[in-house]
Amino acid sequence: MKRSTGAILTIASFMRVLGWLLAIAFGFIAGDRLFAQSDSALGLKRLTQDQWTIITDMPIDREIESWPKVLDQALLSWCQKWSIDPVEARKWPLVIHWIGDRKLFEQAGLLEGVPPFEDGLQIADKVFLREQPSVYYRRHLLLHEATHWVMYRAFGGGGSPWFMEGMAEIEGTHLWKDDQLTMGIIPGDASSVPHWGRFKRLAESTAAKRMPSIKQILRYGNERENRMDRYVWSWAACIYLRNHPVYGPLLGRASAAPLDYSMKLSEEFEKSLSARWDWVERDWKLFVDDFDFGYQPESNLVAIEDVAQGIRESGLSEFTLDTDCAKGWQLARCYLKAGEQVEIHAQGTYVVRSANQEAWESSPDGITYEYHRRMPLGKLLGGFVSTDTSAPLEVFGVGKQAVYEAQRDGWLLFRVNEPVGQRLDNSGTLQVRGRITSSRPR
Ligand SMILES: [Zn+2]
Repeated sequence: MKRSTGAILTIASFMRVLGWLLAIAFGFIAGDRLFAQSDSALGLKRLTQDQWTIITDMPIDREIESWPKVLDQALLSWCQKWSIDPVEARKWPLVIHWIGDRKLFEQAGLLEGVPPFEDGLQIADKVFLREQPSVYYRRHLLLHEATHWVMYRAFGGGGSPWFMEGMAEIEGTHLWKDDQLTMGIIPGDASSVPHWGRFKRLAESTAAKRMPSIKQILRYGNERENRMDRYVWSWAACIYLRNHPVYGPLLGRASAAPLDYSMKLSEEFEKSLSARWDWVERDWKLFVDDFDFGYQPESNLVAIEDVAQGIRESGLSEFTLDTDCAKGWQLARCYLKAGEQVEIHAQGTYVVRSANQEAWESSPDGITYEYHRRMPLGKLLGGFVSTDTSAPLEVFGVGKQAVYEAQRDGWLLFRVNEPVGQRLDNSGTLQVRGRITSSRPR
């Protein structure tokens, strides 16, 4: 540095350095207050603040230092959401075992009576966590296991396996920004949740035709086989069912405290849905087809039960539908019997992307500039959901016009082709007209 840069700069630099020194000193003091720390002969560190204790062989980084703050906020949020007395909850101790080298914990006798586990485990007031490939995912696992713990403490259990894991996954999926925790998010994109991979796993499972029915998910047990698949499907089912206008309140009743870990919750919930199982499975298929980064249950979740019943009885042979290009599946007033053909025409222009004061206009054939699921962005899609619940949701390209022939009895739906998280900036509608023309010659 040249001397001629002047005294003012030097003073400014000095003040800045002094500021840093003060910040470091304050951080250090605050850090000291945060944790009472002790080391064992084996090199295990034990850190305690309030009700939280962390035992680890891993280096104490800023992330670990933030955990008491993360857990304080998580606990407060659970108390508010689930009407737990915060004074009582503050008395519940939690010991977090953050494990790098498992052998050290075994030697210290900390894993006695602990069954084998892959990533994480909760037993009473203890949670056990293995090192994870990203800081995000490490915190995700902490919140997942802490959810099991708080449910055990507040409700006596987590409920049937799918509910217990689904709830832990909902609460584990979080945003930690500027020291503020938000749990229960559906991420807007993959970059905010490194190594989380839930949507990827759901897509792979669906592509491999392994998408389970809701009935199968409700009957999940605790077996370790296909564990991750069961976790992600349990998470998806929990989001679907808790947010559904008809099934959400029924699940609320079946999952009211006290809870245990048996199949009781599933059995009660199943019983309350017995008259409408087919609808549960139909809406589930529509949900899974759309469920992706940026999904918003309040605006994207489709419940067709009431309207679809009426359409089946109406016997109409023609329909029109103003399809909102910002929305997910929209039901047409059209019920098809197996073998019937419907002629579909669509028109209109609508915006499928607005960015940098530029609007991408699309017509029903879509924009071939970009593709999603191998079809042009913005193209009009048809969906067919059958009365036969074992049949998957059929999705087909419509564009300006198409003829669809039903292989089974069922209902027609429409939407434009675009990932759910990118539909928010869409505007406009397309007019869809349809006419049932003929039966298939037999
Ligand atoms: Zn779990």
